[in-house]
Amino acid sequence: MKIDLITLFPEMCEAVLGESIIGRARKSEAIEIECHQLRDYAFDKHRRVDDTVYGGGMGMLMKCEPIALCFEDICKKRGKRPHFVYMSPQAKPLTQEKLKELSELDNICVLAGHYEGIDQRIIDEFIDEEISIGDYVLTGGELPALVFIDALSRLAPGVLSNNECFTEESHFNGLLEYPQYTKPISWRGLEVPPVLYSGDHAKVDRWRYEHSLINTAVKRPDMLEEKELSPDDKAILEKYRNSIN
Ligand code: SAM
Repeated sequence: MKIDLITLFPEMCEAVLGESIIGRARKSEAIEIECHQLRDYAFDKHRRVDDTVYGGGMGMLMKCEPIALCFEDICKKRGKRPHFVYMSPQAKPLTQEKLKELSELDNICVLAGHYEGIDQRIIDEFIDEEISIGDYVLTGGELPALVFIDALSRLAPGVLSNNECFTEESHFNGLLEYPQYTKPISWRGLEVPPVLYSGDHAKVDRWRYEHSLINTAVKRPDMLEEKELSPDDKAILEKYRNSIN
């Protein structure tokens, strides 16, 4: 997967994307990420990327031309038109389902907005999809873009050591993950559930499934409303509810 990020703060983004799992995945070429300085595509005397808003009001808006030129340059470089995403608080909040869908694409270009956002004509003519990281407003699109790119990159083959790392995780199959424990078995009088070190893999799998379901029912009951529960699932939840009443 190749990801291009258009931003006014490439150094800030590089600092995050050069570290840890994503940094290693870039070095091993499991993913390719390139940050582009939008200002390099502003050719007026002051290299301005923003201007005042027609109709009045506070704040500045990102101008069309630098964004268009930068995107067109990326298209030329990639030899194709990447799926163009604009990070925006106006979109539907990002989900794991949406990430799964976008992880099938080979090329994605992400635009991080700033100021009051971007000229509507770019959204109408260039942007394929707007993505939000939640129903709140940040000062700029860099943090949302980094959140999106991180979550997307870890689904690309070769980024995590094993695909199970994410297929068992929260949200992948509409459930939250089960509780997990590490050494020691006994810590300050608190014990790891014995089944988890019994060596019986079938029992461990069963325990994990049951606790994944229970965890979801406790923390995010709304997620279960969207899921078709089997008679076995219902029995697991019934047993849990009886045990706490
Ligand atoms: N005036 C815009 C509005 O009310 O919809 C908000 C602009 S915001 C201050 C500046 C930039 O931050 C946006 O262009 C967008 O790229 C980014 N941004 C802010 N909150 C975001 C969110 N929740 N998800 C994704 N991007 C966000």
